[in-house]
This record gives sequence, C-alpha cells and structure tokens, in this order.
Amino acid sequence: MPSYTAPTRDIQFVLNEILDVANSDVPGYSELEPDFTAAVLEECGKLNSAVLAPLNVVGDKEGCVLENGVVRTPTGFKAAFDQVREGGWTGLDMPEEFGGQNMPYVMGIATLEMFASSNQAFAMYQGLTHGAASAILVHGSDQQKATYLPKMVSCEWTGTMNLTEPHCGTDLGLMRTKAEPQEDGSYAITGQKIFISAGEHDLADNIIHLVLAKIPGGPEGIKGVSLFIVPKFIVNDDGSLGDRNALSCGKIEEKMGIHGNSTCVMNYDGARGWLIGDMHKGMRAMFTMMNEARLGVGMQGLAQAEAAYQNAVAYARDRLQGRAVTGAENPDGPADPLIVHPDIRRSLMDQKSFTEGARAFILWGAMLIDKSHRAGDADAEGMISLLTPVIKGFLTDRGYDMTVQAQQIYGGHGYIEEWGMSQFTRDARIAMIYEGANGVQALDLVGRKLALDGGKHVMAFFEMVKGFCKENGDVEGMAPFIEPLKAASKDLQAAGMYFMQNGMKNPNAALSGSYDFMHLFGHVCLGLMWARSARAALAALAGGASDTAFYENKLTTGRYYMARQLPMTATHLARIQSGAEPVMALPADAF
Ligand SMILES: Cc1cc2nc3c(=O)[nH]c(=O)nc-3n(C[C@H](O)[C@H](O)[C@H](O)COP(=O)(O)OP(=O)(O)OC[C@H]3O[C@@H](n4cnc5c(N)ncnc54)[C@H](O)[C@@H]3O)c2cc1C
Repeated sequence: MPSYTAPTRDIQFVLNEILDVANSDVPGYSELEPDFTAAVLEECGKLNSAVLAPLNVVGDKEGCVLENGVVRTPTGFKAAFDQVREGGWTGLDMPEEFGGQNMPYVMGIATLEMFASSNQAFAMYQGLTHGAASAILVHGSDQQKATYLPKMVSCEWTGTMNLTEPHCGTDLGLMRTKAEPQEDGSYAITGQKIFISAGEHDLADNIIHLVLAKIPGGPEGIKGVSLFIVPKFIVNDDGSLGDRNALSCGKIEEKMGIHGNSTCVMNYDGARGWLIGDMHKGMRAMFTMMNEARLGVGMQGLAQAEAAYQNAVAYARDRLQGRAVTGAENPDGPADPLIVHPDIRRSLMDQKSFTEGARAFILWGAMLIDKSHRAGDADAEGMISLLTPVIKGFLTDRGYDMTVQAQQIYGGHGYIEEWGMSQFTRDARIAMIYEGANGVQALDLVGRKLALDGGKHVMAFFEMVKGFCKENGDVEGMAPFIEPLKAASKDLQAAGMYFMQNGMKNPNAALSGSYDFMHLFGHVCLGLMWARSARAALAALAGGASDTAFYENKLTTGRYYMARQLPMTATHLARIQSGAEPVMALPADAF
C-alpha cells in the first residue's frame, strides 16, 4: 500500500528561504519564525502520515453508504476526524474570537498540502467547512457569525457549498432553486442541488449548507442569485440544536475517485434558510471566496502528484528490471533497479521538478492572499486574482499528468489496484473539473483577468520577472535560470500581444488559444519559482549551509525544469498564434 511522508523540509525552504516569511511586514508573519513553523509542520506531518494516509485506501475501497437518509463514512473516518478537530487543525488560520488560532493563511495552505496528499477525500470535509465558514466570516451578520462560526471553526459542525443543479453547472444564471421570503424574515428554500461534496455524512452533529437560490421577482440570470445559510438542524436561540430542516440527501453519486467523500444530491423542500450578505449579491459573496477556494483546489493537484511521486521513487529503487545501458549497477542482483534507466529518470525528474516548483508557486499565492487580507494590499489582491486561474487550472492539469507518470513507473502494477497507485490518478482527476472546470479557468484568465484594472496586474507580473532577471543576471550559477526565464516570459508577452491585436476583431482567436495561454503562463510561473529557488539555494551554499545536498539537488532539479519543461512555452505560443482557423474550421455537423 502507498505511504506518505510530509515534505516538511521543502515547505520550510519555501517559507523561510524564498518567501522569507518571518521578516515580511504582513501582519502576523513575524511569528512565523523557522522553529515555530517547523514545529507546526512536523506535528501536522506526523498526524497525516500515521492517521490519515492509512485511511486513504480504506476510504477508496469502502466509499460512503446512504442508508435510510443517513450517509455512513468509511471505517475510521469519524475517529480520525475527531482527532484532527481536537488537534485544532481545522481552525489554524481562523480568528481567535471564534476558536481559531489566527495563523496566517500561508500556514493553513502549508498544512493543507499534507491533508490533501494523505487523504484528499477526507480533507474535503474540513476544506468545505473552511470555505463555508470563510463566507460567513466575511458576509455574515454578527449574529450569524456568533451562531455558526465557533462550531464550524472547530468542525463540530461542517459546511457545504451548494451551487450546481442538474441543468446548470458552469452557467449558474440558469439556476432554478428558489427562496421565498417568510414573515419571520427567513426564506423557504425549494429546489435540487447536485454533486454537493460532504452534503450528508456522520462526522458532525450539524451540517451548515450554504445555498445559492433566486428570490422570486428578482433580476434575471446570475444577477438575481442570493446566498442562504440552510442548516441541517435549526439552531435554537441558546445555541442548541432544534428541528430537523426540510432538506435531505436523495442519493450519493458513484464516481471515479474521492470515494471517501460523499457527493450528494441535496433536495430542499421548503427548507428554512437565512439570507447571508445582500439580496441578489450571492455571486459576489461566492467570488470573495473564489481565490482561496481555487488555490485550495490547485493544491490538490500538487498534493496528489507529491504523494504519487513519493511512492514511484520507492518503487523505482526497488523494482529490478533490465540493465543500465552504461553497465550493470547492481551486478550481484539479477537486474538493475528501474531508477537507473534514463526514461524512468526523466519521468521522476518531471514529477519532482513539478511538485517543488508548484509548492513554491502556491505558497507564494497564499502569501499574496495574506497581503491582501491582512495588509489591505490592493496590488497583491490584483496579482492573486490574475494568478488564481493559473494556479487552479495549470496545477491540477499537470498534477493529474504527474500521477499518471507515477502510475506508469509501476507498469502493470500501477494499473491493478493492489499497489494503490490508480487511486492517486482517480482522485486527482476531479480537481480539473470542480471549482470551475479548467477550460473555464482559461476563459476567465484570458477573457477577464488579463484586462483587469486596464492590464495593470499582468504588466506588474512582467515587470517582476524582468526585475528579477536584471537583478540576478550576473550572479554566478544563475545563467541556466535567467536565460530560459527571459525567453519564456517573452513568449508569454507575445501571446498577450496576439490576443490584444486579434481578440477584439475575432474573439474566437483569443478563446481558441486560452487553454494554451493558461499553460504557457503556468510554465512561466514555475520557471520564475525555480529561478527564485535557485537564487535561494546559491545563497545558502555561499553562506556555508550544512545541508549542501539539499541545495545542490535543488539546483539540479531546477536546471531540469528550465531545460526540459520551460521550452513548452514556444509550443503553446505557436498554437496560440495559429489563431481560430484550425480550431473552428470544421463545421459542427462534421464532427
Ligand atoms: C465529485 C464532485 C464534487 C463536486 N462538488 C461540488 C460542490 O460541493 N458544490 C457544488 O456546487 N458543485 C460541486 N460540483 C460540481 C462542479 O463544480 C461542476 O461539475 C462543474 O462546475 C462543471 O459543471 P457541469 O458539470 O455542469 O459542466 P458544464 O457546465 O456542463 O460544462 C461541461 C464542459 O463544458 C465546458 N464549458 C462550459 N461552458 C463553457 C464555455 N462558455 N466556454 C467553453 N467551455 C465551456 C466546461 O469547461 C466543461 O468542460 C462537484 C462535482 C463533482 C463531480
């Protein structure tokens, strides 16, 4: 069965040596001294390796079962959930006044990686709760916050997000669920939501559903959508649980992966709900959470790739097949281990250079969110809004690809269930779909984010890359990073220019290239992260760091990314510049 070891050393490298969190002026960051973050990460790592990782396969095999309206989660989930709650992990980055530990979001994300690696299906119960609690925190009234947040921060009650309906996923303007005003100020919610993660289960005493619905008579389409709190059990004035609300789980979906998470059809039959935030501004309330939620899903791409990679390395060291082309490396054995073969090394290098680059990218993204939320930094907010579709789309696509590569290292043993490798691939697949399918992320990037605030943020991105290259161009050892980064950034600018020149007169020209643009942008971001990593590694080596192997390996892995992955930007640019014609020429009825 697969195992998992939390990559705490690498997370520490990003936090301390690339982002230099403890010396940042973001409020709360001065507490993030290396000793402190190391203690938190080590503790979290132990919990994930020892308790949650062994339950990953159990969750996959048993799945969730719906019986008499009640969903039973896999064996061991409830006890583990209680252990996670009691350890305070669910409220790590939530405010102290609601029982949280008030740590910066960057720490929440650093620990989330471990939860999402060790057991993604399990982690979603707390992840969805975090998302719902964040929405209440920002948009709820004082009374709503006092009623729901303490129990949600501790995960005694969990939360859900209800957007999707059978006929509306991406196009939420088609929503039919309705919310009728009642005399007591509440609303009667009626409709069906589908694919609701953690919609019903046995892990918590109450489930707080956040439901998007339309108030009759409101504006048409997406502008008429409002957000409601709809608890499974109505909460009495004294905080105790009252009547069962008129909502039920009609079915749990059978699906490709994340079997340990209950994906529910939720029926609302005049359920009592309370408006959260302003009437008809439900989408705005959801959008406030969007950057965080999408960054969390991007993390799932990295997390599954990391867990799969760790096991692929162990297998490649162990499995004896064939001889090294340059002469036997295990002459006393019947064959050499897989890891001697260049093609296996290529695959492992793809995986390693992806996971480490992605980790730096996501933690940087989390720091931008902290700058925005904790320091009111509008530039950071603009930058993370620009990068969010890249983090979500690129990292989940590539994360999935990496799980396939890890599976491939096992040959046929990766395809059968005995070794547990197919689960990583199956679990990783959903992250490309939910929280806005990746094609829609690309649309968002090209259609909205590039032009955001007059293109100010994308220009700031280019300036940042340029500034970094200028500052470090002459540093010894940086040439293999700076030159490829400059070339890739030039490709990205050329693609942006192509959209500017052609997008207005032919929108299909821009949208035919949007997916390539998202990947082009992703590669440039990872290239930038590798260049920063290299700079930090060189500084550590020059400063006499004792852990030389770690830093040398960093540089070697980074050079691999620059040499073997970053050149993909040229292919993406060529595809973008081919325009709409090759994509749209075939008439729809010719398919
Ligand atoms: C396991 C699982 C868990 C989920 N959890 C939740 C949850 O907790 N809460 C919730 O509300 N929802 C949840 N979802 C729903 C998920 O968010 C939707 O499936 C997703 O948003 C896509 O909607 P759809 O399936 O209706 O696809 P559609 O909207 O029908 O899209 C189909 C395809 O067309 C593409 N597409 C759509 N519009 C365009 C366009 N304009 N241009 C180009 N391409 C386009 C999409 O990218 C996609 O590839 C979950 C789904 C699954 C499978």
